[in-house]
Amino acid sequence: MSIPQERRLVTAIPGPKSQELLARKQAAVPTGIGTTLPVFVTRAGGGVLEDADGNALIDFGSGIAVTNVGNAAPRVVERVRKQVADFTHTCFMVTPYESYVQVCEKLNQLTPGDHEKRTFLVNSGAEAVENAVKVARYATGRQAVVVFDHGYHGRTLLTMTLTAKNMPYKQGFGPYAPEVYRVPLAYPFRWPGENPAEEAYAQAVDMIEKQIGAGNVAAVVIEPIAGEGGFIEPAKGFLPKIAQYCRDNGIVFVADEVQTGFARTGDLFACEDEGVVPDIICTAKGIAGGLPLAAVTGRAELMDKVHAGGLGGTYGGNPLACEAALGVLETIEQDDLVARARRIGEIMLPRLRAMQERFPVIGDVRGRGAMIAVELVEPGTKNPNPAAVQEVIKRCHAEGLVVLSAGTYGNVLRFLPPLVIPEHLLEEGLGILEKAFS
Ligand SMILES: *Cc1c(COP(=O)(O)O)cnc(C)c1O
Repeated sequence: MSIPQERRLVTAIPGPKSQELLARKQAAVPTGIGTTLPVFVTRAGGGVLEDADGNALIDFGSGIAVTNVGNAAPRVVERVRKQVADFTHTCFMVTPYESYVQVCEKLNQLTPGDHEKRTFLVNSGAEAVENAVKVARYATGRQAVVVFDHGYHGRTLLTMTLTAKNMPYKQGFGPYAPEVYRVPLAYPFRWPGENPAEEAYAQAVDMIEKQIGAGNVAAVVIEPIAGEGGFIEPAKGFLPKIAQYCRDNGIVFVADEVQTGFARTGDLFACEDEGVVPDIICTAKGIAGGLPLAAVTGRAELMDKVHAGGLGGTYGGNPLACEAALGVLETIEQDDLVARARRIGEIMLPRLRAMQERFPVIGDVRGRGAMIAVELVEPGTKNPNPAAVQEVIKRCHAEGLVVLSAGTYGNVLRFLPPLVIPEHLLEEGLGILEKAFS
């Protein structure tokens, strides 16, 4: 790594140069585009972000689970550099190129299930989810889509409709797309009953059969771990039951692995944890080290139903992004980042559980691999405590640790370090967090 792997603060956060840039941003970019931490980045790599003032911050965000292999990862840079000099675009639907096909072959091989698969490439997670619904509707001749409480699927009209949370994603942007139905998720920390997997499953099926009719459902779309909703790992057994229900009723089971994919959770894909095999899997974020790319991978018999020209887009599978994806997959494999993700979980979870003993504001510690969260409550209750999250984040940012919030109630701190973060930075970041809680 070319960037020194150390935290270094030379100004207050944000420093004067970043503040100047922030003022320009505010004059040029609409307020709808938020800013978590207003330091303007000039360079990044490993577990470090460098800013315009010369500060070096520890990265526990990975640009929202994107730079799993690290920023400007060497194999990604090398491939993209060569590609940008050779050609930058032809449109795969006009005159194709090999790297697109290679990425699809790789995803067909690496995603769960050994059935025959097809993949096509698009630009963003939302576009991938939207296309999965198009394929499911076409292949089944049905219209209804079932999604879950706490789910997040994107910001386009359809995926915003699929998303559970009103603020900030939906407020004022309706009317929403029709034929979308939301059912409960087995959220272990907040489920009122003793048996969240069984009870949430029974409620979901009851709602589907009463309100829609299983025979009208094209697709069930679910994140194997709800990301924006607060890193909610559904109670064990819930996902396999939902997948089985889909198989029994001719419903396309769509796994939205946009946030959980590419080694993040300590498996290449989070569905592997319970042996769930989706009919269609949507991927994006971690796929190409930050270049815009997303993929829809599904059973050949579903995907090949759609007529020629029915799917696509001008930029989908851009050659630079495809080369980046090949570099990402090589890096995950050759540097065994699946094992690195597990190791990160093994370091973080015990430290966070020890903090939970000391600080009653921490209601729950959860996650898998390098997708870890703490849910903050008013001590002695389960009442969400978003103010505490904001306070902890403010202190972490001031100390040069990039952390993000999440959660339906805004009361979750989430940690998504790059899988290549050196362990001394991971430990230092946890120390800053602990001090912030103190
Ligand atoms: C981020 C995200 C999306 C949307 O991806 P974009 O690339 O922002 O469109 C969809 N689903 C999940 C689970 C996500 O985390």
